[in-house]
This record gives sequence, structure tokens and C-alpha cells, in this order.
Amino acid sequence: MRIEKSAGAVLFIKKNSEIYYLLLNYPAGHWDFSKGRIEKGEEKIKTARREIKEETNISEINMYDSFKKEIKYNYKVHGKLVEKTVTFFIAQSFSDKIKLSFEHKDYTWLKFDDALNKITYNNSKQLLVEANNFINTNQSKKY
Ligand code: ATP
Repeated sequence: MRIEKSAGAVLFIKKNSEIYYLLLNYPAGHWDFSKGRIEKGEEKIKTARREIKEETNISEINMYDSFKKEIKYNYKVHGKLVEKTVTFFIAQSFSDKIKLSFEHKDYTWLKFDDALNKITYNNSKQLLVEANNFINTNQSKKY
């Protein structure tokens, strides 16, 4: 069995006091947050920042490491099982201008309800619910 570890972030932007979440369309067809493989010796939060830059070209962000959630899933490549763990943080973007890399087919900024509908997998839907609660509770303090 192959072990794979990625990190990413629920990236949001605030516009006219509304919150929008960034979702990416993966080549396999699913809609999910920005994420990618952790490089050797790399801190997870640095992976999340690097992947946002590589996948969207956004570098003007605030990373919030006081929120951290792991998602686990398995998938098969050429019949071999991959056991994957993805650690997600929350990040606020100050720009909604995206330049996609070759790694994704499309992107969208959506409000909470629409994002919840668009996300493919239930574990990521659950992550969005928790991230949205976190952002709304901490909003007056930080965001
Ligand atoms: P990374 O963004 O970490 O580099 P990747 O683009 O190589 O990852 P994944 O997004 O992990 O690949 O997708 C690999 C496989 O796992 C696909 O078949 C996909 O459908 C499935 N998958 C992706 N996300 C989830 C999830 N949250 N729950 C269950 N299965 C998932």
C-alpha cells in the first residue's frame, strides 16, 4: 500500500461582507479545495501556501493555522491502493484573480450554500461546514 500526504487550504475571500470559497475542478472530475503533495521536510502550512500559489497564482493571503483538519481517503492507481491523508488549513485571499495551472480544469468562487452543493466528496463538504463555522465565529476578531 502506498501512503500519500498532502496539505491544502479552504481559501476564502470577503467581498461586500459576503464570504466566497474557492473550488477547483480536478482532472478526475471532482470539485475540491486547493491542495498538493507535501515535499520532503516541508511544513504542512508551507505546503498549503505553496500549492495555492502554484495552482491559482495567488500569493497575497493570510494563513490561519489555528484551524487544522485532516481528511483521509483511499483510492487505487493501476490496481494499487493509495492511503491518503490531507491536512487542511484556512486561508483568506485578498485577490480573486486566478491563473490556473495545468493541474486543474476550472475554478469557481462560491458562497457557502453553493459551494456545499458543488463539492464532490462528503468529507470535503464536512470540512467546509467546519471552516465556515470557524470563520463566522472568529470573524469579528480577525477577518
Ligand atoms: P493532490 O491535489 O493532493 O496532488 P491529486 O490531484 O493527485 O491530489 P486527488 O485529488 O487526491 O489527486 O484524487 C485522487 C483520487 O482520489 C481521485 O480518484 C479522486 O476522485 C479521489 N478523491 C479525491 N478527493 C477525495 C475525497 N475527499 N474523498 C474521497 N476520494 C477522493
